Parts: sequence; structure tokens; C-alpha cells
Amino acid sequence: MLLHGGIVNMDDFKHNKYCDGSEILNIQTFPLELLAHVFKLLSGSDLASVAQVCKRFYEVSNVETVWQTLCLREYKFTSEDFNTWNTSYKIIYTKVLRKYGNLIGTWQPKINPYGGLLSIKFDKGAIIGTQYFAPPDPNVCDPLRKKKVFKITVDDDNITRLLCLKGKPSNVHPFLFTPGGSMDDFSFKCCKPDRHRKGSNKQEELQQWIHEELGIDILPCAVDYRLELLRIQFFINMQFDASCNFRRLHIPTGKEANQPVQPGLYKGTYGGHGIELVMVSYHGNNLHGVKVTGDPNVPADQLSIQAHMNEPMVLNTSDQHSLSELEALSKDNVLLPSDQRKARQPFIVPRDVMDRGMSKVSERIDLTHCIGRYFATGLIAMDGFKNPSRTPSHFIVFNENMFAMLWIELHSISLYCRVEEELM
Ligand SMILES: [Zn+2]
Repeated sequence: MLLHGGIVNMDDFKHNKYCDGSEILNIQTFPLELLAHVFKLLSGSDLASVAQVCKRFYEVSNVETVWQTLCLREYKFTSEDFNTWNTSYKIIYTKVLRKYGNLIGTWQPKINPYGGLLSIKFDKGAIIGTQYFAPPDPNVCDPLRKKKVFKITVDDDNITRLLCLKGKPSNVHPFLFTPGGSMDDFSFKCCKPDRHRKGSNKQEELQQWIHEELGIDILPCAVDYRLELLRIQFFINMQFDASCNFRRLHIPTGKEANQPVQPGLYKGTYGGHGIELVMVSYHGNNLHGVKVTGDPNVPADQLSIQAHMNEPMVLNTSDQHSLSELEALSKDNVLLPSDQRKARQPFIVPRDVMDRGMSKVSERIDLTHCIGRYFATGLIAMDGFKNPSRTPSHFIVFNENMFAMLWIELHSISLYCRVEEELM
């Protein structure tokens, strides 16, 4: 607090003098603007402490630009975000951001084996939690479906409100938030889960949910198996409807200049399990596709795809007519020279391979050629993740936002399409 060196005792301090009689230059006499400028350098908790020192500091701690700076620096809360709130930066910081600001980002519910995706953002005067779901199978290029699940805001009396939005819009009710042991987990607990019910009974809700999940374009022959899987998923998810733990999901951003597919979140077709979400990142020469949503065979968090980007190959159409032809290929004959990472080449779905969603997309997007093809392994397992094994696969890139996995052992091919929604 003193801008002059030297020893001082409290009696002298009160008289603005050092022991040697010289004047103390007291920071409290500085202009408010200058003090505010200094206070902007403090952390939120230091600012709260300093505000208790004296009346002058309390006055400075109420300057809006001090809180504005803190909101932006610590929580990336911008003036654009602020314009939709009906209160001050100080209230937003102290009543909302300090406790809930770290929630901003993407999260995964800890629901085994299904996982999931929750995005928490500033939105129109509140922090909003939105759950995202893959589009109905097989429309892998369609946008994600979304549902707002909670809202954190302050009311007209500047009281913080934690509101659960599950259920009808007229049935908004409170929820409890509990931070986890680290910044990377938290738990949500609804105070009135009975208000979530939209149908008159569970069966009605199940029917409604199944309708949403299947959309309208499902092949009739796939319905029975898919229905059974959906029933199981519905009842497991219902167990986490009232309370659920979440862990932070770090979705890679940025570009990989020398790679044909960019990191990030993708939607992929997983046969009877519908469309699942996979996070793509690079680890040395390997591309990893980790499941963000999973199924009873291969759960969320498992490494579904491992593509060896240093093993690019080039195939003719005649190599691809059937799986047996593909299996007979010798790596030595099809690998590209090591200085080449990708090669545009013809692509066809072998006649004995089950096409998961590709034919529908190929009506709109040219899938007769790919820009690169790589040796890969895909994770498969029996129900309950029994006997998991990595099986030979081909990783096929159509453009930087779309690729396929040819699961040789499963006789099937999955198509993946980038998630375009801004989740952060
Ligand atoms: Zn609720």
C-alpha cells in the first residue's frame, strides 16, 4: 500500500508519516481511475479482499470496468454476452461466474455405456446447458438434435437461479449443482424430477422418444433390432434423468496442415446402434477416433478407430469388387511410397459389404473417389464389451470433413461426417 520504502508503524501510518517524519504517499489518495486501472490486475478473490480494506477501496471495487475486465479475462465473458443480461458486471461475476463460470465448455455425462454430449455456453442473459444428440440414422450429414436442460441466471432481485428445463416449458424448477473434486467434473441433481414427465406414463414417453430417435427414414427390416436397443437405452438413460455426473470433454480444435482429415467431433453410422459421436485427434502418425457416445457393444470413451496415416495405400476399382479381393491385397503392392501421404483414387463399396448410410449420402455428395485410403484397425466387441478386439479396417477419406471405415471382419462400412455446430 505504500509507495515509499522505509519502516512504518500503525500510529505513524494513521498520521501519514514515516518514523523519519517524511510524508507517506498513500495509494488511497490516487484518482479513482488510476486505482481502478490497478485493481483490474487483481484476481476476483483478491479484489473481494481488497474491497474490505477501506471505504475508498470498496468504492473502487464497485467500478464496473474493473469487473468487466475480470469477466473477460477469467471467463471470456464479452460485452456482447453482457448486453443480454439485465444486471451489472459485478453481479454477473460475483453471483454467477465465480461459482459457475468454469462450466463453460463441453461435457460428457457419465452414463455407461452410452456417454453423451453437453455443451454449456453463455446465451441470452444466462448460462445454458444444452444436450446434443446425433441425428436419426442414417442421416449422418444432418445437424445434431439439441435440447436445453438447464439454465443459470440471476433474477430481478439479483438472486442466482439454477433452473432445470427438462419437462414442459411451463414446468421450470430448481436443480442443485455440485462441483467435483477437480475443475473437470460436476454433478447435476434435479429437485423435482416428477416435472420432467411429458407423457402420462413411461410407455408413452418411450414411444415418443423412439419416434424422435428413428426419425422417418428407417429401413423396415432394421426396425425390430433397433427398437430393442432403443428400449434398453431409454431405460438406462432414465436412471440418470434426475441426477447425473459429468466430466469435461476436451474437443480438439485447430488444423492439422499435413493431414487429410481435420481433428474435431464427427457423426458416424454404427449399424443397429444408429449414429454415434466420435472425437478425432492425432497422436504421432495415428489418427484416433474415440467414442463420445457409445453402445452396449463398444461403450463411450473407447478407441473405435485407429488409422495409420503413415500407411496410405492406392487401390484400383478392380481391387474393391469384393471383400475377398480386398483381403488378398498385399501391403507391399498397395502402400504408397513413404514421401506420399495421400492419393486421389477410385472408390466403390464392395458388393458383399453392408452399406451403413453411404448410399443415401452419395445421392448428394460424390463418393466415387476418395482423396486417401489408409490401413487402420477398428474396435469391435460382443454385447457388454466382451471379447474386444482391434480388427483390420480401411480408413477412407473423401474430404477433410468426411471419411469412412470399412470394417472388414464385420462386412460393413460406416460413414462419418463432421459436426458443424459451434459447441463452445
Ligand atoms: Zn428437473
